[in-house]
Amino acid sequence: MRHDESRRLYDRALSVLAGGVNSSVRATQPYPFFVERGDGAHVIDADGNRYIDYVMGYGPLLYGHDAPEPVQAAVQKHSAAGPMYGAPTEIEVEHAEFVARHVPSVEMIRFVNSGTEATVSAVRLARATTGRDKIVIMQGGYHGAQESTLVKGEPGNVHPSTRGIPDSFAEHTIPVPFNDEETVREVFEQHGDDIAAVMTEPILANTGIVAPVDGYLQTLRDITEEHGSLLIFDEVITGFRVGGLQCAQGKFGVTPDITTFGKIIGGGFPVGAIGGKAQLVEQFTPGGDVFQSGTFSGHPVTMAAGHEYLNFAAENDVYDHVNRLGDDLRAGISDILEDQAPEYTVVGTDSMFKTMFTRDGVTPKNGADVSKAETDRWERVFWQEMKDHGVFLTANQFESQFVSYAHTDEDIERTLEAYKEAL
Ligand code: PMP
Repeated sequence: MRHDESRRLYDRALSVLAGGVNSSVRATQPYPFFVERGDGAHVIDADGNRYIDYVMGYGPLLYGHDAPEPVQAAVQKHSAAGPMYGAPTEIEVEHAEFVARHVPSVEMIRFVNSGTEATVSAVRLARATTGRDKIVIMQGGYHGAQESTLVKGEPGNVHPSTRGIPDSFAEHTIPVPFNDEETVREVFEQHGDDIAAVMTEPILANTGIVAPVDGYLQTLRDITEEHGSLLIFDEVITGFRVGGLQCAQGKFGVTPDITTFGKIIGGGFPVGAIGGKAQLVEQFTPGGDVFQSGTFSGHPVTMAAGHEYLNFAAENDVYDHVNRLGDDLRAGISDILEDQAPEYTVVGTDSMFKTMFTRDGVTPKNGADVSKAETDRWERVFWQEMKDHGVFLTANQFESQFVSYAHTDEDIERTLEAYKEAL
């Protein structure tokens, strides 16, 4: 494969874009390929190379690169008609009604423009409505580029994970290991009266893919209730991806107080949302006094795309298709690993999958387990090999990969062939 044009573009980009990219994960080594266009489940780069795409925009593209016709029509209609006004539109109401109808925890919703904005506002809402400052999060979890959750460490020894955030911010955040009931109980024994919320993804999707052990999410539900704290599920990735239209909370049968959304809910356009019980969400301004606002929030084009995305999934075999291909892919990779790399494991559920380069064949239970995997080997050798075989995976060991409605059995077969050779 030749990448001359991508290399030229990256060279130009490095002069005017920080690190040559607008989101750090995109800066793959030695230089990223620049995308020319998408085609179904594939992307074509600036040099004309074609890849089977499992990055899928890091999650939003449930249908791959060719959205169903009603999505495209709605996007064109709303972009031609405005595209936005600074005044409310019917499509925002329709989309909110749909989400409230399907997602167990959602009675009321506020749309924003990114997952980060959603988690920032969710944390503010939790702090405001409980009158408490501390939040509990999971080690290795990711909730976007927000000051309260960009921390590292363990209870009693927490620091910002990036420069530019005051230490005093991190004092209010307590990271605990996922799937560890004992630690979260201890933290609540010590700080229970000061904890506004536990915020977690129901399935960690930014640190490998780590599933909750039986009963763990229910424990979080019980413990937060006992202490008058809130439970926030960050479903930015899992929302409308895992558990179909009921999201992961429906799949696991645990209903949080607040849910954050992003990605799929915007049909491929920038989006975020905070949903939950009406008595909480209506505390946002202007109904309440928890400040929340945004020029582009509820953007009609995004709302139309998101709404038609979900409508189409409600009326077609979308989740059956993507989940079946997800099963086939996970089973196929497992077979290959058994033969070629029994120390590695396959993780994921529904249409999410990842190969973990574990050293002992044991499925990771938390972020620390994942970081013990052969992360460099995954990134520097395996990912490159897969790319050279025409398969575009997320470029590090930690981020999930996604099957879309546009993927076919043939794509899966070709992908498994590539795995066989690359591994
Ligand atoms: N929460 C989770 C669980 C995420 O995976 C992400 C992004 N991958 C975010 C929040 C932040 O979303 P965004 O990048 O849209 O700000």
